[in-house]
Parts: sequence; structure tokens; C-alpha cells
Amino acid sequence: MHLRSLGAALTVTGSAHLLDVRGGPLLVDCGMFQGSEALEARNHEPFPFDPADLRAVLLTHAHLDHIGRLPLLVRRGFRGPVYCTPPTAALAETVLLDSARLQVEGFRRELRRARRTGREDKVPAPLYDEEDVHRTLALLRPAFQFGETLKVGGLRVTPGRAGHILGSAYLLLEDGEARVILSGDLGNRESGLQLDFAPPPEADAVVLESTYADHRHRSLPETLAELRDTLRQSIRAGGKILIPSFAIERTQFLLAELKKLMDTGEVPRIPVFLDSPMASRATHAYFEFGDELVSPVREALRRGDDPFRPSTLHTVVSAEESRRLNRYDGPAIILAGNGMMTGGRIQHHLKHHLWEPSTSLIIVSYQSPDSLGGQLIAGAKTVRVLGEEIAVRAQIHTIGGFSAHADRDDLLAFLESAGQPRVWLVHGEPEVMEAFLPVLEARGLSANLVPDRERVDLLTTTFPEGRPPGMTGARGREQRSEE
Ligand SMILES: [Zn+2]
Repeated sequence: MHLRSLGAALTVTGSAHLLDVRGGPLLVDCGMFQGSEALEARNHEPFPFDPADLRAVLLTHAHLDHIGRLPLLVRRGFRGPVYCTPPTAALAETVLLDSARLQVEGFRRELRRARRTGREDKVPAPLYDEEDVHRTLALLRPAFQFGETLKVGGLRVTPGRAGHILGSAYLLLEDGEARVILSGDLGNRESGLQLDFAPPPEADAVVLESTYADHRHRSLPETLAELRDTLRQSIRAGGKILIPSFAIERTQFLLAELKKLMDTGEVPRIPVFLDSPMASRATHAYFEFGDELVSPVREALRRGDDPFRPSTLHTVVSAEESRRLNRYDGPAIILAGNGMMTGGRIQHHLKHHLWEPSTSLIIVSYQSPDSLGGQLIAGAKTVRVLGEEIAVRAQIHTIGGFSAHADRDDLLAFLESAGQPRVWLVHGEPEVMEAFLPVLEARGLSANLVPDRERVDLLTTTFPEGRPPGMTGARGREQRSEE
């Protein structure tokens, strides 16, 4: 079986893997590159194949860096089926419509700016719009069920629970000669919301994500205790508590945790505002597919309770309501996107509250060093938010233990269940993957890094010391995708 990675090879973003199999080429994931300008420029490059020739697309999960270029593929001629799990289909609608809106808004903003300098012809067109997304959603076939085999062309495809976000799957592909697993993104076995990944069957090769292959996550109980103590301290400070959060998974986890802490009296009840229409929409999918979640949440849903609704929750819908929150008096917790503070409604909350010493900013997800979040973590005294210089007098708290990704121990446990496969590393920073190679070798596993856009035979290709030719050694960290 031949693989050509068009994204997430030697980087953590833009997952898209082209498989040459009998019956025609397949694409596993079609993600957007996010992070540096150089990476994002790759979104505009042509696909190195005719999208009309693809037999099908298989999706592992609904994160933007795994599905974000799908509407572009459709815009450029793909008309085949897109297989995924039912929750992935539900989340994909939310994620792709939001992405189209951001594309179009970003384009209009750039165009206005460029007109003033007479360079409007230099502004790249949006990758796609809402109409492309609707044509894409019409191609979704939510036919993947964990553990059930589906025939796609000459290939048998069996999805397994990946435990990363709602609906996430790894894929076992069998063509009669080889059994290959594509891991997609694998979950942290202490995520607090998702069930653990299902142990995979034995395979000849595993294409393995390696985002945190150099890392051991802090334990969930320790992280939760830190969250509780930070909330108590922040509530005592009496001001706004701002929590920038990713719309999928982290927000639902925080809502469930806030409800628990307030119901048990461990944290005083104060108003909670969910100021993210995208997160509100995504939460519906968690409702609908609650059987996939850890038992306290699952049981609550079965009883007809709402585990994602603290009794003091207000869901903010319109932009006007969101702005009105700026004048809200008294303590409150505000959950808003986006998680990296690079855009979204969190920005105007930061602008209105960062300068107040009673404000607490609780950072619960990875921030790239040059982002606004990165500057705040580094202790910046002032930051630029929405074009204004804002003094930072708020208390900045970082809770680093949350992660939706497998750590080194999780990855090794996954591999152990797969027998003695050849291992191909993707979705990691080069230096993280290089450091992981000897760990795999010590376990008797033959391992290589997947080269960028070069075709490999998953069962026979080998690189000296596992490093593809032309690999330019360690580069700066660009971004750890969706943490
Ligand atoms: Zn992911």
C-alpha cells in the first residue's frame, strides 16, 4: 500500500494522506494548514492530483486541520463520497460553516486594506465560501461505526474509537495484502470527557500521530484540582474570569466541570456566560452522541439531565449581546473563542478587562509563543488587542495539564496492541519525532518519519536512521495544532 502525505508530514498541521489502492486513489483527511504564514500559504497550492479522480475521502475527525480543505477539494472538482462517523458529520457542519465565514470575512478585510494602497489584485481569494460548504456537506456519508467494516472500492475499512474528540476514529485499512492503521489524532486516556481509544488490532504498518511523543501529561486529578483552586482564587478577586476556549471538546469539558464544581459547592455559584455561537452549536452534537462520553456525563444524559449546563449558565447568541457583556457589573465567568485569542469574541472581552487588576484570565490550552496568548504567558506588560494598546493588570493563570492528544505512554500503549507493525510517524514537530525514533527502536519496532509529499511503500520503504532524504534537521516549532 502506497502513501503520499500532502500535509502533516514533518509538521503538525494540514493532515491529508493520499493512498494508492486498488480501485482508485483515496484521501484520508483533507485538513487546513494553520500556524505560520508559510504553512498557511500551502492551503492555496493546487492539489497534486485531479480531485475528480479521487474515489473517496475518509475522515478521522472534525478538527479543522483534518477537514478544513474539504470544501476546496469539492470546489476543484471532487464529487465522490466522504465517509465519516455520525458525530464527525455533525461537527463538520459547524466547523466548515465557521471556516467559510472566517475565510470570507478575512478576504473582505484584506481587500479593504489593499484598496487603500491600490494593491487589491494581490489579495488571494477566499479558499471557499458557504455554498462550497453546503455542496461538501451533501457528500458526507456518516456510515462509519466503530468496529464495523465497510467496503470502499477494493478496500476494507474498519474505524476504531480514537478517543480524541467526539466521533474521532482511527482507520484499519485492508487490501488483501496488507493491514495498515492510520491513527488520525489519538486521545489522551485521561481526557475527562472521551472514552479511551479502543486497542487496535494487529497490523503490518501504523501511520502514527506524534504530537506529544516527547511528553507525559500531568494526571487529570492534579489538573482538575488546579482548575478548582484557580477558580476559587479568581472568584475571590471579584472581577471577570475570562477563559479562552476551543469550541469543540475543551468548552464542553469546562462546562461539565463547572457544573460539577458548582453543584458540589466546591466553587461558589457565579454567572457563567458561554459567548461562542460555534461552541453552543457543537455542544448539541455532544448531546446527541453522548454514548461516546465517559460514564458520569453519559449517565447524566441518559437520565435526561444536561451535564453541560451549570445552573447559572447564560448562552450568548448575538454580537450585540456579547458587547453588552462589557457593561455587565459583578463577577462572572466568560467562556469565549477563539482558544488562541487570535480572533473571535474573546478579543473584546480582553480589551475591556485585561487592564483591571480584579480580572483573571485562565488559559487552558496551548498558545503559540508569538500569539497574544503567548505574549500574556510570557508576562507582557502591555499588549495590542483590536488595534489598541492595553495594559495587562489582570491575573494570568495557565493550567497546562489539559490535552486532547495522546502522550508518549498513550502512543506506546496503542502500538503495543498493534503487535510488531512498521511505524510511520506523522503529525509531529520533526525534533519531537526524531527523539521518539530511538524509543521505538528500543522496543524492536522499525520506524520512519513520513516524508513531505513523497510517495512511500508502507511495507518496504526504509530511510537511513528513519529520516527521509532532504530532511532539513530541527526547525522552529510552528504550532501544536489544536493542543
Ligand atoms: Zn485533532
